[in-house]
Amino acid sequence: MLDVGRHPNIELMAYCELESLAGEAGDFKAKILKKARYVDADKCTGCGACAEACPTPVLDLYNEGHAHRKAVYSWFAQGIPSTHAIDPDHCRVLTGKKCGICAKKCQAGAIDFDQKDQRVELNVGAVVVATGYDIFDPDKLPEYRYKALDNVITAMEFERFLSASGPTEGHIYRPSDRRIKAQKAAVLKKHAKSAKGLARFEKKYGMDSQAFVQGLEVSHDLAKDKDKWAAKAKNHGRLAEQLKILEEKVSKITTAKKLAFIQCVGSRDLRFYPFCSGYCCMHSIKEAIIAHEHDNDTRSVIFGMDIRAVGKGFEEYKVRGGKGSEITYKRSRVAEITKGDNQSPVLIYEDTTVQKVVKQEFDLVILATACAPVKNAPEVAKILGIDLDPYGFFKTDPANPLDTTREGVFVCGCAHSPMDIPESVAQASSAAARAVQTVIKAQKAS
Ligand SMILES: Cc1cc2nc3c(=O)[nH]c(=O)nc-3n(C[C@H](O)[C@H](O)[C@H](O)COP(=O)(O)OP(=O)(O)OC[C@H]3O[C@@H](n4cnc5c(N)ncnc54)[C@H](O)[C@@H]3O)c2cc1C
Ligand code: SF4
Ligand code: SF4
Repeated sequence: MLDVGRHPNIELMAYCELESLAGEAGDFKAKILKKARYVDADKCTGCGACAEACPTPVLDLYNEGHAHRKAVYSWFAQGIPSTHAIDPDHCRVLTGKKCGICAKKCQAGAIDFDQKDQRVELNVGAVVVATGYDIFDPDKLPEYRYKALDNVITAMEFERFLSASGPTEGHIYRPSDRRIKAQKAAVLKKHAKSAKGLARFEKKYGMDSQAFVQGLEVSHDLAKDKDKWAAKAKNHGRLAEQLKILEEKVSKITTAKKLAFIQCVGSRDLRFYPFCSGYCCMHSIKEAIIAHEHDNDTRSVIFGMDIRAVGKGFEEYKVRGGKGSEITYKRSRVAEITKGDNQSPVLIYEDTTVQKVVKQEFDLVILATACAPVKNAPEVAKILGIDLDPYGFFKTDPANPLDTTREGVFVCGCAHSPMDIPESVAQASSAAARAVQTVIKAQKAS
């Protein structure tokens, strides 16, 4: 990404949308919407001082909703360019309220609330579509209770949990346990605030609240304050009890040790996508190995119809996971997940080696969801004037596998079909070469 950002022949137009593509191969006219960032890209240094000071938290979708970002933000820390953007749906100023803290903090003077969307037109010789894929929605398989059970997550969510810059800083704390920690933090805050309220009465009457409550029956001549103090003291006691219970629960929280990976969630399934998504067996093995590297007590079971370790060194990697990282491979299609004790998911499956239905409890279940076409593929296809294949990926010519149905428009990576990173990178190079061929052909013809 850094190479792309620095390359003298590449102009990066991030935060932009293609609106139309007229003309023909070698001479296209692309209309592009440059969305207002409300941050001047020429001035912003990407220092992040604005985001640090911004008082508006927004659910962070890069972290799959398991963390919060600010209304002024960069999508992720290593993103290119590092220019920040203000989210117009949440920023206080842009939603008509008072704020402007970011503008005060930005030493570069980059904040510009008056910035407007712009439309630019580019003359381009060829187009490469690299819009990637979307995660299949596992809620379409109700038997896995993705939404109902906190501790059933997707592999993409787990990737964020494993990341040192993710919501759990690389430590695998379960969503249900993180919720308890958040509840404790919220009650602790309320408890501290109520202690401050009580302190005002204690100072005024020279008596601590416990002594006041114990002597309530004896009578105190405190006029109206008596009822107020009593109510606040009662509430404080209630918060203290809640806090004790939550502290007890938090003291028992450990990282997740027993992990279950379920393969082919939406893939190789005639109800959804009949194809194999290709990369999921390997990413589950990778995630289980990394989890074990983080914490040697971690044990993983990977449930699948078979493990598809196709490629140079992949089978060896699978075997290494089994021998060195406490991974068990179970040949089984999990039938159902139910809720056990302590929010732990219980898997019901047939163990084909003993031909028995088994119930097994895990700390966390990770679903390897299918590689689905991007949701807006139909709109993108319409703008580009190209066709989709029966699954919703961009249609290509079998004899020229990167060529779409419009001359001069090419496709690579998961926009083409499911594939891993090395394959996507190789295809991207080939698509770039096809684009260059188109440009050279047009130049020769003119
Ligand atoms: C959980 C998980 C773990 C994985 N781990 C590995 C791994 O360890 N190794 C590996 O090799 N592969 C892994 N993969 C597969 C890997 O993610 C893909 O191979 C790779 O991301 C494909 O790259 P891509 O550029 O084609 O698509 P993407 O990575 O999806 O990139 C497409 C980009 O296009 C943008 N975009 C979409 N629509 C538009 C539009 N209309 N206009 C402008 N931009 C648009 C998107 O925002 C996105 O940034 C994993 C996949 C998953 C789900
Ligand atoms: S807008 Fe200003 S404060 Fe924010 S990242 Fe850019 S330079 Fe830093
Ligand atoms: S104006 Fe306030 S809410 Fe909006 S981005 Fe700046 S600091 Fe955040």
